[in-house]
Amino acid sequence: MANSIYPPYPPPLTAEQTEYLFTTLKDWTIAHGLAVRPAPGFVSKEQDPSGVLATTAPVTLFPSLFPRSCFDEALSIQELYNEFYSRVARDERWLEGIVNELIGVDDFIANLWRIHLEVKREGYVQDLSLGLFRSDYMVHINDEGSDKKLQIKQVEFNTIASSFGGLAWEVSTLHKYLLSVDAYPGGPKTVPMHGNLATSNSVPGLAAGLAVAHKTYEPSNEFNRLCVIFLVQDPERNVFDQRHLEYALLAQHGIRSFRLPWQRILQDTEMTAKRTLVYRPPHLPDLPCEVSTIYFRAGYSPDEYKSEQDWTARLHLERSRAIKCPTVLTQLAGCKKVQQVLATPGKPPRRFMCDGERLAKLMQTFMPMYPMDDGEAGQEGKRLALDPESANRYVLKPQREGGGNNVYRKKIPEFLKSIPESHWPAWILMEMIEPPALRNAILRNGEIQEGGVIGELGVYGACLWRSGTGEEGQGEILRNFEAGYLLRTKGDQSEEGGVAAGFGAVDSCCLV
Ligand code: ADP
Ligand code: MG
Ligand code: MG
Repeated sequence: MANSIYPPYPPPLTAEQTEYLFTTLKDWTIAHGLAVRPAPGFVSKEQDPSGVLATTAPVTLFPSLFPRSCFDEALSIQELYNEFYSRVARDERWLEGIVNELIGVDDFIANLWRIHLEVKREGYVQDLSLGLFRSDYMVHINDEGSDKKLQIKQVEFNTIASSFGGLAWEVSTLHKYLLSVDAYPGGPKTVPMHGNLATSNSVPGLAAGLAVAHKTYEPSNEFNRLCVIFLVQDPERNVFDQRHLEYALLAQHGIRSFRLPWQRILQDTEMTAKRTLVYRPPHLPDLPCEVSTIYFRAGYSPDEYKSEQDWTARLHLERSRAIKCPTVLTQLAGCKKVQQVLATPGKPPRRFMCDGERLAKLMQTFMPMYPMDDGEAGQEGKRLALDPESANRYVLKPQREGGGNNVYRKKIPEFLKSIPESHWPAWILMEMIEPPALRNAILRNGEIQEGGVIGELGVYGACLWRSGTGEEGQGEILRNFEAGYLLRTKGDQSEEGGVAAGFGAVDSCCLV
């Protein structure tokens, strides 16, 4: 962790002030659904036999300080990133090259590619794709040269199940509320919060993305009801995050949506001869509903594909005429290997953005990354990863999502030696981002923990595009916009940052 560049923060609280802040926050979060279902083991089955309980989601007591210039930059380049990744997803030939490097060492990627090939053989019947993306960053102190400079550096780009948009919107409203009821003590030395708390419009933004897809979909006219499907894991602790989007979709756009558990795809949906996807709600079997858009909040982890039946279910959805958010190709575009190939020094990805100035804006956010293969960059990657001294500045990542999969710093050499070298190319090596020191207090499972923290800013983007008939990135973007932000904050002793994986809390930005 680098030295702090921030003023002293957050302000110290007396016992009475802590009590007031805690009580106000507890009530507001439940009243507004800034909540999760309790963790397994937190309440017993006897205490909550029918699963009615909910608890405050892990949140920070204060909005964290965040450099305004970095925040503005991250939001301002989101449309460029949307366009960039939409082009990657449309470039089947280029993606095939990436997948070929992984197919022998990663069954999950191989299976996703197989699904794409099967649908391609038969012919895709939907050329629209929706991306609800999230580009994640940390603030990095670049201390090369004499003057230190703050920059945002990209952790990763998510193309499937980018979560926490619902709670991100809530928490920015919570922090504003706490400020307005004087739950934060003022005083001459405190950082001014008035006017500097950034609202996240992630709920209206992401709901607008789904609405655009729904309205662009051409109904088959075989059915007189049209809906959006939220494809979800079951059980799901983070259900309220998703519910906020469902409610906004209905309230702001009049669009009906249904939650379809991953395990029930084949039971509850069917396909017509024209490959229209039809959802038959178990509680209303006589009212079938044509599916315009499938929003995947499941299907990103190999654990969910327990048997061939789950792959059959994924194929069934991919074959259908519903708009997928995301398609298999868009999901593949988000794998860490793609990010590494784009960021490896020496190969500017002009193929996806020919305007050098715009491309440079994105490239400024890349952290050095290396493959773990036999090529020239791979040799360098292996050298850095095996030497304990240099490995300490890196993180090793597999092609997985959802947190808890990476190997950090000093553990890298030992880990690599524990697996066959022929499997190393499934991983990529990335330089660690070193954010400036920062303090805050996190409320998790009823306990407040105070101390050093690390923040990760996620910027949401919505993009609807039409693929061309060719294989190399043709097609056109129909809508493209930035869709709000998320700040996740974790203790600075923790390497991982996923809120769902249990390492972080939702937060909002106090811009300085
Ligand atoms: P996932 O898709 O599982 O979320 P990430 O690439 O986001 O994978 O890694 C998980 C977490 O690891 C991040 O939220 C962040 O806290 C940490 N992390 C990943 N890459 C870096 C990096 N280059 N520098 C610092 N922390 C990182
Ligand atoms: Mg991810
Ligand atoms: Mg992540």
